[in-house]
Amino acid sequence: MAAAAGQVIVCKAAVAWEAGKPLVLEDVEVAPPQKMEVRIKILYTSLCHTDVYFWEAKGQNPVFPRILGHEAGGIVESVGEGVTDLAPGDHVLPVFTGECKECAHCKSEESNMCDLLRINTDRGVMLHDAKSRFSISGKPIYHFLGTSTFSEYTVIHVGCVAKINPLAPLDKVCIMSCGFCTGFGATVNVAKPKRGSSVAIFGLGAVGLAAAEGARVSGASRIIGVDINPSRFEQAKKFGVTEFVNPKDHKKPVQEVIAEITDGGVDRSVECTGNVDAMISAFECVHDGWGVAVLVGVPHKEAVFKTHPVNFLNERTLKGTFFGNFKPLSDLPGVVEKYMNKELELEKFITHEVPFSEINKAFDYMLKGESLRCIIRME
Ligand code: NAD
Ligand code: ZN
Repeated sequence: MAAAAGQVIVCKAAVAWEAGKPLVLEDVEVAPPQKMEVRIKILYTSLCHTDVYFWEAKGQNPVFPRILGHEAGGIVESVGEGVTDLAPGDHVLPVFTGECKECAHCKSEESNMCDLLRINTDRGVMLHDAKSRFSISGKPIYHFLGTSTFSEYTVIHVGCVAKINPLAPLDKVCIMSCGFCTGFGATVNVAKPKRGSSVAIFGLGAVGLAAAEGARVSGASRIIGVDINPSRFEQAKKFGVTEFVNPKDHKKPVQEVIAEITDGGVDRSVECTGNVDAMISAFECVHDGWGVAVLVGVPHKEAVFKTHPVNFLNERTLKGTFFGNFKPLSDLPGVVEKYMNKELELEKFITHEVPFSEINKAFDYMLKGESLRCIIRME
């Protein structure tokens, strides 16, 4: 591996040339890592709905050609100038949001919104020199979320790379680099349900089911799953979801249905759909006086959240979170250890697996609502 350090690597990457068109496996040149960057050999990556939104570019700004992907596991191949925390051979999880460890957010116990490395969905270049590290015949291919994991090799800022236990199976813990931690943290770090409380989860994909898992380990007694895809319900029982509501089965708004079955509303709700109407329902379905709703879904760029202010006056709280409020570098290794100690289960989130050459199938499974997580094997 060290042989390529400082040199361009030519490898396969799945390039999104145009919105909504199948990705194309291309030979891509990957430049060596620059100051505070690392080059990583990706071994496994998986598809999150956020990749699909930016590939469709219906409700998001189009940035093409681009290498998508942000949920992955890999091994450091080489490091750039100034990198002391990582070395070739380290097992790592890239994260779409980072930790500079110096800004007010990184110093605050409450925030993971690093000034330097927080999520930026429209930037397609590296921070150091505003250039891309990917090219095909000299023509730049843009980055995505600073991670671009749909490539055999990628270059990432060191502050967005968590070093983990080398014994952790990367084909499982890769889903902790986004989906699992996002949903689980949204519940345990942000919604913080009390033992015996009721929690509604909107959207029962991998993120929502990880949120349900957070409710289960917090000792919630009722976990109400809300989804418009009824095929999710059977699967969700494995994640501790105790009741189901399909908004399509009811004439009245789902928040009213939930208020009726819970005597006034749930104690907590976590929204994991990306649909703004579901976000509003998730807020309005929490109990007045103490209810807390947490938004996780990535909204359409023109979405507007509308609710009557009295819903707040009646002592409901609305919050939002990226990456479940985990600090990616400081907290992720510990979450991986919880899996290693069998305190967390990841296998049940992994419903499909495909070789890299069939990456487009992962998009089909997600668009049809068939998959939770589809692992893409790079070799
Ligand atoms: P997914 O497609 O696997 O799951 C989404 C689920 O929501 C599906 O089961 C779908 O049927 C359901 N749904 C859609 N519209 C609905 C509605 N109006 N009412 C009820 N259910 C509805 O997606 P995922 O990978 O689990 O991601 C979920 C959301 O979380 C996406 O919006 C994604 O972009 C977002 N996300 C946010 C963060 C973050 O840090 N905030 C990180 C990762 C993903
Ligand atoms: Zn994601």
